[in-house]
Amino acid sequence: MDIDSITGAAYIVAALLFILSLAGLSKHETAKSGLTFGIVGMAVALVATIVGVIDVSEFLDNRALVIILMLAAVGVGGAIGLWRAKIVEMTGMPELIAMLHSFVGLAAVAIGWNGHVLGSHESMDSLVNIHEAEVAIGIFIGAVTFTGSIVANLKLSARMNSAPLMLPGKNFINVGSLVLFAILTGVYVSMDTYDNTSADILLGVITLLALALGWHLVASIGGGDMPVVVSMLNSYSGWAAAASGFLLNNDLLIVTGALVGSSGAYLSYIMCKAMNRSFISVIAGGFGIAAPAGDDKDYGEHREIQADAVAELLSNASSVVITPGYGMAVAQAQYPVADLTAKLRAKGIDVRFGIHPVAGRLPGHMNVLLAEAKVPYDIVLEMDEINDDFPETDVVLVIGANDTVNPAASEDPTSPIAGMPVLEVWNAKDVIVFKRSMAAGYAGVQNPLFFRENSQMLFGDAKDRVEDIVRALG
Ligand code: NDP
Repeated sequence: MDIDSITGAAYIVAALLFILSLAGLSKHETAKSGLTFGIVGMAVALVATIVGVIDVSEFLDNRALVIILMLAAVGVGGAIGLWRAKIVEMTGMPELIAMLHSFVGLAAVAIGWNGHVLGSHESMDSLVNIHEAEVAIGIFIGAVTFTGSIVANLKLSARMNSAPLMLPGKNFINVGSLVLFAILTGVYVSMDTYDNTSADILLGVITLLALALGWHLVASIGGGDMPVVVSMLNSYSGWAAAASGFLLNNDLLIVTGALVGSSGAYLSYIMCKAMNRSFISVIAGGFGIAAPAGDDKDYGEHREIQADAVAELLSNASSVVITPGYGMAVAQAQYPVADLTAKLRAKGIDVRFGIHPVAGRLPGHMNVLLAEAKVPYDIVLEMDEINDDFPETDVVLVIGANDTVNPAASEDPTSPIAGMPVLEVWNAKDVIVFKRSMAAGYAGVQNPLFFRENSQMLFGDAKDRVEDIVRALG
């Protein structure tokens, strides 16, 4: 068997492993094996690619240099990846992922330009045109993903204001850029692109247009719409990889890119559904236009409570629901929360978790944290599974959640988050809100829950306060 057939077979095995990986990642119980399939698949793909390159480099004069450069790239990339994965905090995960998407975008741009410089190997005009279209489309998707992901990274890491950029005619800018791209691509495909300065300049303009569009697209989306942006960029990075696969004639890259692209698109759809929004309306912006946190409505006074009083309330309860949010991740409070859960369950109290689909800063953020702290899966419920149970719940502990428990979403049609389904915690007998101040959540919207008669605020770092309660419970 020649090397070509072996790498071809290895690519099919890797593609199957990636599909098994996605299937595994869809459930808590199988997530670990899903990850293992993904790692093994990627290892098979890498080894097959390296062997393939070593094989074809046989005819090159500078074979040794090619092999050294490739191994150095794999070594350096692998080392940086391992280092970042080791030091990243769970709270920093979304911005790391956004950053990784930007690398996929940048790689697609580089591969597209490489395809342009090398030209097509085909002699038939129509095939040359297809190659040129692949170059332009690959560069476009890659460049949009690159700058879009950088902006997402800056917003998620709070190095850039998360509020949406509101340029006049922003929808016109987005749609106009797409139309302009289609026209420029048509011109590019119709010209003789090989060794042609005008074609170089045209492709440069397409690249700049896409870079600017990526920046503007994500800068214009803000507040609570960011989860959809993260999964949307995930999808774009997949399509960028698939476009590179066509250019490089690499079937595995096409399959993997399509898997990432379609699963990211599906995730965006699920997120939109969870927020009762259409994908188009997210891209067109509007939802993220946050009202000023301290709007002029008078919500009345909030009440404060201390940890020992919460411990007493919990001791007398028969059913407790914990709704965690981004603040639990910031405080790293999942471990004391798991202790508290175990303590209350040992007293015969029914404790369950209610997880909002966009709680935290990443799809599945809360589930990962709770699984990390070994909270049993069967008491961790989705929003839809638990929402009807709040009227029969004695105490709800809102731990570092804000937008996802905001009654304004269902009660105030003028609220910027109106229509977003939320955890209806206010229907419980008592609600305890853990946070450090009266500040607004990610969407920048005031939360009337804090001023309800059955709500009390437990101020301070969520981890410290939960530990205080665990201590008070004895
Ligand atoms: P929010 O961002 O609405 O609120 C988090 C709350 O946690 C804040 O009110 C903050 O209040 C509090 N907090 C922060 N640090 C601590 C701490 N150390 N101890 C105690 N409390 C703390 O979080 P939610 O999870 O409710 O909602 C998620 C929001 O993020 C939604 O708007 C969602 O759309 C958006 N988003 C979600 C993504 C996803 O994929 N899940 C991605 C990007 C954005 P204070 O400062 O007063 O302590």
